[in-house]
Order: sequence, then C-alpha cells, then structure tokens
Amino acid sequence: MIARRAILIELPRDKCDVEYIKRLMALTNLAYRDYEIWVSDLPRTIQHQLYHSFVNYMDSLVFGTDPKRWFARTWVPLTTLRIFSDGSRRGDKGAPVVLDFRNNVIRLRQVCKNEPRYVVELSMPEWVIERVKEGGDIKFAMIGLRDNEPYLALVAERVVEPYQPSNYMLVIDVNAWNHGIAWGLIKDGIIIKWKPEIPNLREVDNLYNLSVELSRKYGKLKRLGLDKTEEGKRLRKKIRKLRKRLYTKLRDYAQKLVHRLVRKALRHKAHVIIDNMIEESRKELLEKKIPSGLRKLYLMYTRRFVKLLITQLGWYGVPYEFKRLPSTVCPVCQHKLTQEDGRVMVCTNCGFKAPRDMVPMYWAMKLSEAMKSNLNIKDSFTSE
Ligand SMILES: [Zn+2]
Repeated sequence: MIARRAILIELPRDKCDVEYIKRLMALTNLAYRDYEIWVSDLPRTIQHQLYHSFVNYMDSLVFGTDPKRWFARTWVPLTTLRIFSDGSRRGDKGAPVVLDFRNNVIRLRQVCKNEPRYVVELSMPEWVIERVKEGGDIKFAMIGLRDNEPYLALVAERVVEPYQPSNYMLVIDVNAWNHGIAWGLIKDGIIIKWKPEIPNLREVDNLYNLSVELSRKYGKLKRLGLDKTEEGKRLRKKIRKLRKRLYTKLRDYAQKLVHRLVRKALRHKAHVIIDNMIEESRKELLEKKIPSGLRKLYLMYTRRFVKLLITQLGWYGVPYEFKRLPSTVCPVCQHKLTQEDGRVMVCTNCGFKAPRDMVPMYWAMKLSEAMKSNLNIKDSFTSE
C-alpha cells in the first residue's frame, strides 16, 4: 500500500513572479483537460513537466486520488531530484525541484520566475527530513497560489503494510468542534481510558467575534468610500491578522490532537475505529444557534481533523475503519436513550447510563464482539 503525506511551504513573495505562476497554473488546468499547448515564451523544461513527465503518473496523487483541499486542480505538478547526504541521487536530473540533503536546501529552478537559470533556494523543512527518516521519498512537488500567495507543496510517498492489531482498540468519536473529539482505549472489552478533548472555545469565540465586529466596521468604511484611507487599511490588516490567528489556533489544535492519537495507537498497536458523525454534528450546531460563520469554521476544522487523522494513520500503517457508533441508542438493549442534564444518557428500558460521549465506546465494543461471533448487528440500527 502506498501512503502519502503532504506539506505546504510559503514561498518568498519578493522572489516570485505571481503572474508567471498564474500562467503556469492556467496551462496546467488545460493539461488536466487533455489539451497540449506549447507556449513559446515559457521554458520548455517546465512545459515538458505537464505533458510528458506526468503521463506515467496518471494514477498518482497528481491526477488520480482525491485532491487535497489546497491541491486545487490547477496546481503545477513538478518532478524532483533528490541528492542524498552520501552523494547518491534519485529522480530526474533536470527536475525543476531539487532536494539537496547535503546542504539541507531546496532549490527551485525556473518555477518562480520566467528567467533563464533563475533559482530560489529554501532551507530544508524539518518535516521533509522526518519523512525521509521514516522511509519516505519525495518524488513530487507542486507549485501554486493560495489567496494569491505563492506556495510549494511537497508530497512524501512511502510503501507501508498495516500492522496486525493487538487486543487494544482505539475508538475516536468525532463531533463538531464545540463538543470536540472523544476517544477511548479499550482492551479486551474493558474501557481503560476515556477522554473528551475540547479546544479552548472561549478564546476561539472571542477571536471570531472580534473579527466579525471589525469586519462590520470595515464594511461601514467601505460604504462611505473610506476603505482606502489609512484607517481603512489598518483595519483590514488587523482583520487579516485576527483571522490568521484564529485559523492557526484551530489548525494547531487539530494537528496536536492527531499526533497524540496516532502515537497512542502505535504504542498499543491498536485497531482504530472512527465515527465520523459530521451530519449529525451539523444538525446539533444548527440547533445551538451558533453564528453561521463560526459553524462553518467548526465543521471545516472537524473535517480537516479527520483527513489529517486518516492520512497519518495510513502513513504509519495503523489499521483503521469507519463505523457508525450511535450515541442516542442503548448499546445493551437498543432502546432509544434519553438525555439528562450534563449530557448524560439514560436507558429507561434496561437502566444503562453513561456520559453521551462514552456511549460510542460501548457500541464499538459491542460491534467488535459481534464481529467476532459473526453476528450482523449492524442492520439493527441502520434504520434509526
Ligand atoms: Zn437499554
């Protein structure tokens, strides 16, 4: 099985010609649609990348698998040359992206500006060194614009076989961000650890509210035709900064949590079960009357968390599967559960009682027991 991970690196704007990158992206877009167009004033080596070097990679990340969010269809695919510390080389000699592990730099040749022998040098990200240490190789890169800023995306590839799971099971119940993620570590049918993980929402809400407030102010200025004034510009800069802080906060939280959960799974050689309850969470968020902008943000980062989680589980060969684990149906008798104060769920039929976020853990146990004894219990709650 080939596992892939990717990283996005911001390129120095002053060393990049955004218009040139835009043109390359437009050509790439055409290449995706099977048009082969050679433009006389663009370097042939780069155009060659689009029509020849990638023909053999039709099933690869670039043309095949689900594009990552920031791999909009028009990102320009590039081959790489890897020069290792022992001097050995791998890849295309004329590749526009050179990963030089002897000097720990990345050199971009003619992809940032349309000038002969134009090179931009970046320091080698720690991420690349770690992926290579783990047995990964970076065969592909991409260049493109996001919010009109130039970026380089590197894609690490590795062949990995999922391990044989032990008697541990790690259950991850994904809610919308406001209820966070609940995880449970189960060994031989006993929940040995259970924890709901919730980000510091007050801080997130505050940042969000402040950015909305300032955006309103900015809107007012704009209507008065004053958005280009010193005050207007200052305000816009401030809003941008606030949003960036908000996104960084949510992203860092998701990344750290994924890292911890993956480590946990690896440590116990656990089988991972994920309940990805996005739809239900969306409804729950709607009922809570959370402002729509914040709701979108919560859902976006919840999705991103799941994507990041499965990418890393795949990379480290952790076996995982998605399972629907209800939190409103009794795992003992399948009667409907009643919610009491403090998100405690109670079964009026058999007396089962547990915190709402813990109910999925019981379901995971029940389902794995059922799987062992070959009972198909799944059908009993699909019509719920
Ligand atoms: Zn019950």
